[in-house]
Amino acid sequence: MGKKVLVIGEIREGSLRNVTFEAIAAARTVSDGGEVVGVLSGAGDLNEMGEEMVYYGADRVVTVSHDNLKTSEGHAQAIYPVIEEESPEGIIMGHTSQGKDLTPKLASKLESGLISDATEVAAEDGTIVFTRPIYSGKAFEKKEITDGLVFATIRPNNIPSLEKNEALEGEVTAKDVDIKDIRTIIKDIIRKSSDGVDLSEAKVIVAGGRGVKSEEGFEPLEELAQVLGGTVGASRGACDAGYCDYSLQIGQTGKVVTPDLYIACGISGAIQHLAGMSNSKVIVAINKDPEANIFNVADYGIVGDLFDVVPKLVEEVKQLKVNA
Ligand SMILES: Cc1cc2nc3c(=O)[nH]c(=O)nc-3n(C[C@H](O)[C@H](O)[C@H](O)COP(=O)(O)OP(=O)(O)OC[C@H]3O[C@@H](n4cnc5c(N)ncnc54)[C@H](O)[C@@H]3O)c2cc1C
Repeated sequence: MGKKVLVIGEIREGSLRNVTFEAIAAARTVSDGGEVVGVLSGAGDLNEMGEEMVYYGADRVVTVSHDNLKTSEGHAQAIYPVIEEESPEGIIMGHTSQGKDLTPKLASKLESGLISDATEVAAEDGTIVFTRPIYSGKAFEKKEITDGLVFATIRPNNIPSLEKNEALEGEVTAKDVDIKDIRTIIKDIIRKSSDGVDLSEAKVIVAGGRGVKSEEGFEPLEELAQVLGGTVGASRGACDAGYCDYSLQIGQTGKVVTPDLYIACGISGAIQHLAGMSNSKVIVAINKDPEANIFNVADYGIVGDLFDVVPKLVEEVKQLKVNA
């Protein structure tokens, strides 16, 4: 018999993050023909975003709107009563900064386990199996929950969402929840990344390393990212050298990314960097050193000076666009 599965949606800067739709697709697998219920918490009118969750496959959505929902503490207070009321057999959310902060809070309250950072969800012989990377992506493990709540977070950009279908119908209901005694407040958000594209959801990333040599050295990379509709990332080497902000760092102690295309420029390919990007779908490496480790994970390698190669790539892409 199918299960009831809750999907915790995530709103960023006034719209739903894509991983919300991917979580709905994962929830459909976990539910095995049961009901998928979206839950959204945030400020203002959430009805439209609730409907969007329906278009991506949620059967119905419960929204909790409150002005005091700026931290995970507030979101946990908003979502917990919905979980209590719905008694789901599964809960899925994105493995994002918010997901990483919120889901352990809920799991501990629910006295449940939690499978985090799954990159695959599949039904195998009647059981739901989650695949997740371990040891910084050097191996994958398969996990199943044999008893109790199936609670998991999924890595963005790995589980394809279902096709959007505006003909789908489902109820979006607003629930009133009293949110009080919030102990953490956000006083200010300092954000230096220029274009606002989230690295963990970007389809194309052009990343620079110490080989970029300066802050200005990132300019050709930014141009390439722009013509490809992507965003710029960096190695820790580049961040430590002060060429860019740490919010761009990719790797074991930075962001984990899985874009369709990852272009590594002047990055040696240290194991801690690979931990954050080796699952990218197509990897292109540009490096002066033919022995650089990055070539061991690259699908395409260009041995050369990035300051010659990157501008040529920009021109080629522009030309392709003109001819398209
Ligand atoms: C606990 C720990 C956690 C870490 N976490 C991370 C992490 O999250 N992310 C991360 O990235 N690192 C991390 N590191 C650091 C990591 O070990 C490396 O030091 C770092 O990734 C190196 O950065 P890089 O490749 O930019 O620099 P380098 O290793 O110095 O490589 C620069 C590369 O640029 C090439 N190059 C130079 N000039 C050019 C040119 N003009 N054109 C083309 N190529 C050129 C060189 O051949 C070289 O391969 C961590 C380290 C530790 C110990």
